Amino acid sequence: MTAPALDVRGIGHAFGGLTVLTNVSFEVPAGRIVGLIGPNGSGKSTLFNILNGFLVPQSGSVMMAGNDTRAMSVEARSRVGMVRTFQTPRVFEHLSVQDNIMVGACKLTRSGALSNMLSLPRARRDLALMREVAEAVIERFGLQRLREVPAAKLTSGQRRMLELARAYAGKPQLLLLDEPSSGLNTAEVEALGKWLQTFNDEGMTLLLVSHDMQLMNIASVVNVLYFGEIIASGPMAEMQRNPRVREVYLGM
Ligand code: ADP
Ligand code: MG
Repeated sequence: MTAPALDVRGIGHAFGGLTVLTNVSFEVPAGRIVGLIGPNGSGKSTLFNILNGFLVPQSGSVMMAGNDTRAMSVEARSRVGMVRTFQTPRVFEHLSVQDNIMVGACKLTRSGALSNMLSLPRARRDLALMREVAEAVIERFGLQRLREVPAAKLTSGQRRMLELARAYAGKPQLLLLDEPSSGLNTAEVEALGKWLQTFNDEGMTLLLVSHDMQLMNIASVVNVLYFGEIIASGPMAEMQRNPRVREVYLGM
């Protein structure tokens, strides 16, 4: 059997005296779309920071495709296919749309910043590859008209799209999305859902945090985080009927 894309076991974490996660366990099977919901402040973004290596958890383990991530840096996780997006989109404000996407493709290359600066032959080849990948992504996402526009000039919907396009340019196997629909209008959320569905059809595994119930319907399984633990998991429709979930999350 294929190892799950992510196997999260017994994760606990506190900030000073504030315990945020006590015992979080769940799996993200390879090739699936898995959801994570929970009230504001329940620790979803903290968990993402642990998954991608920004934070070292105080207890528990994260296995990625069968490999223990304990000794893996953020970059190492990204090189083996884990890419994330942020609750507040992170883009390089002064760079154009095209250059932002090229940064996303950078992880597909092996030359470091030094050989780029020295303009070594391999770096020139890598640059050409990054341009090529960025061009394909620009076309795929229909961003041709925005190619030269600095990220700072984009609307919030366009920034979201750019962040998604940049993540996609790194050809992730596992994409972690932290509230990708916040700041989007209804039509944009619908378009986002379709994009994510196509990524998944191409074989990409997704872990999706969102308050948008419509968007959450693309997930085959949704985990509900409450007071540091996963209190329920199952298809979204089932979660919406679950009395405990309705009480703690949907406020019913
Ligand atoms: P969610 O994404 O579910 O809304 P967060 O993970 O952002 O929740 O936050 C969970 C709790 O942890 C909140 O009480 C938040 O204030 C706290 N928190 C998050 N990051 C830090 C940090 N770097 N230092 C101290 N407290 C933090
Ligand atoms: Mg959050």
